Amino acid sequence: MIRKLEEFEVWFVTGSQHLYGEEILQNVASHSGEIAQALNVSPHIPVRVVYKAVVTTPDQVSQVAIQANASENCIGLVVWMHTFSPAKMWIRALDILHKPLAHFHTQYNSEIPWSEIDMDFMNENQSAHGGREFGFMATRMRKNRKVIVGHWQEEEARRRIGIWTRAAAGWHVLQQTKVARIGDNMREVAVTEGDKVEAQMRFGFSVNGYGLGDLVKHIDQVSDADVARLIKEYADQYRIEKKVLDSHSLADSARIELGLRSFLTQGGFGAYTNTFENLHGMKQLPGIASQRLMADGYGFGAEGDWKTAALLHAAKVMAQGLEGGTSFMEDYTYDFRPGRSRVLGSHMLEICPSIASGQPRCEVHPLGIGGKEDPARLVFDVAPGQAINVSLVDMGNRFRLLVNEVDVVSPGEELPKLPVARVLWDPRPNLSVAAASWILGGGAHHTVFSKAITTEFIEDFAEMAGVELVVIDQETSVRDFKDKLRWNEVYFHLFQNRM
Ligand code: MN
Repeated sequence: MIRKLEEFEVWFVTGSQHLYGEEILQNVASHSGEIAQALNVSPHIPVRVVYKAVVTTPDQVSQVAIQANASENCIGLVVWMHTFSPAKMWIRALDILHKPLAHFHTQYNSEIPWSEIDMDFMNENQSAHGGREFGFMATRMRKNRKVIVGHWQEEEARRRIGIWTRAAAGWHVLQQTKVARIGDNMREVAVTEGDKVEAQMRFGFSVNGYGLGDLVKHIDQVSDADVARLIKEYADQYRIEKKVLDSHSLADSARIELGLRSFLTQGGFGAYTNTFENLHGMKQLPGIASQRLMADGYGFGAEGDWKTAALLHAAKVMAQGLEGGTSFMEDYTYDFRPGRSRVLGSHMLEICPSIASGQPRCEVHPLGIGGKEDPARLVFDVAPGQAINVSLVDMGNRFRLLVNEVDVVSPGEELPKLPVARVLWDPRPNLSVAAASWILGGGAHHTVFSKAITTEFIEDFAEMAGVELVVIDQETSVRDFKDKLRWNEVYFHLFQNRM
C-alpha cells in the first residue's frame, strides 16, 4: 500500500539568461543534462531526477512551475543557476509553485584551471554570484527551501539532495493520506487531540472517525482458511511456542489482522488509530496486527493519536530502503542513575518490528487494562545506534515539530518478564536536559521513533510544511531552548508561511 519512491521524480531546472549567446546556452544545457543524470543514477537519490529545462525568460520559468504543480509524480524542483539568472524573472514562478524547492548551489567546473582561466570560463561558471541573486529573491519572498552547497560530483551534496527528495516524497504522499480514527480518542487525554481541519490545511492529510462496527464487519468476514494461512506465516517469520501456535488467542489475533487489513485497503487508508477503551465487538486490542501493518508502511497511533499516525506514515515513506526501521513509540519508564539516566521506550503492544534486532518472538499475555482477551504481540529488543524521537504538537495557533536525538544502548540485562518490544535510549545531551526541554516544548509521550531517518529529514519536511521545528541535541541547553520557544512564539504569530 505504501507509495514507492521509484514512482516519484524531481525536476532539475537551470536558470540562465540570453546575454551570453547561443554557444554558452548550449553548454549550459548540456552541463545541466549531465548533472541531472549524475544525480539520477546516484544511490543516494532514490527518486528519478529529470532534467527539465534551461529557463531564460519569466514565461519559461512560470511554465515550469505550473507544470510542476500539475504533475502527479513531480514531488519538487531542484534549481541551479549555472550562470547569472536575473531573479525578477523568478518572482511569478516562486509565487505560484506549490511543490517543495531545493536550491542546488553547485558549479559545473570543480577546481579553477589556474593557467587557462579566461573571461569565457568566468562567464560560463557564474554560480557563485548567480546563486546569490536567486537566493536573494527567494529569501525576499520568504520562500521556504533547502539550500545545498557543494560540487555535484561530491557524495555529501548528493546525500543531502537525497534526504530532501525523501522528505519531499513523504510530504507528497501526506497530501493524499487518509487517516482512519477508529473509536476516537482515549477518554480525557489531551495531547492526542488537536485541530484536524488545520492539520489538513497545513499537511494535507485528512482524519475521519469510524465506529467499531465498520471494522468488526471486516473481521467477521475473514475465513478460517485465511486465518490458518496467516498463522503459518507467523510461524515462518517469528519464534513461537507450540502452545501459542495452537491457541485461540493467536487465531483471534490473526483474524483481527486480516480484518484490519481489509478495512484499511478498502478505505484507501495510509494510517489509522485505535484505542483500548473502544473495542466494542472485538475480542482483543490489535497487537501483532498493528505491529505488522506498521512494518508494511501504515502509520499507526495508539489511543486515538492521529498526529503521530500521520507523521509515522510520512516517515515510513521517507525511510524506504534505508537501514534502521521506524516505529510508533512511547517514553515508558526511566532508568534513573546518577550520571547516566536513560529512557525505556515501549508501548502496551504496538511497536514496529522494522526496528527489531534479530527474530521477534510471538507471545500471548494478558493486557492488564481494557478488559479484553489476551492479545498476541511480537516481543523484541533493538540494537544500539543513533535514532530520533519526533513529536508533532498542536500548539493551538500552529503546529510544532519536536525532535530529540538519542543513542540506543543495550540494557546489559535480560528482561525475562517484560512481554513487550522495548528499546533503551540515552537522550542527547542527557536525560535531565532532554526531558526538561521536551516537556517545556509540549512534546507528547507518543513519538515517531526512527533509526533510519535523521533530524535533517525532519528539518526538510518542516520547511515544506512551513511549521516550527525545535531540536534537542548534543548542543541543547534548557535556558537557550526556552528562549527559542519564546522567540518562535513571536515569529509564528507574525508570520505563518507556507512552502
Ligand atoms: Mn500510549
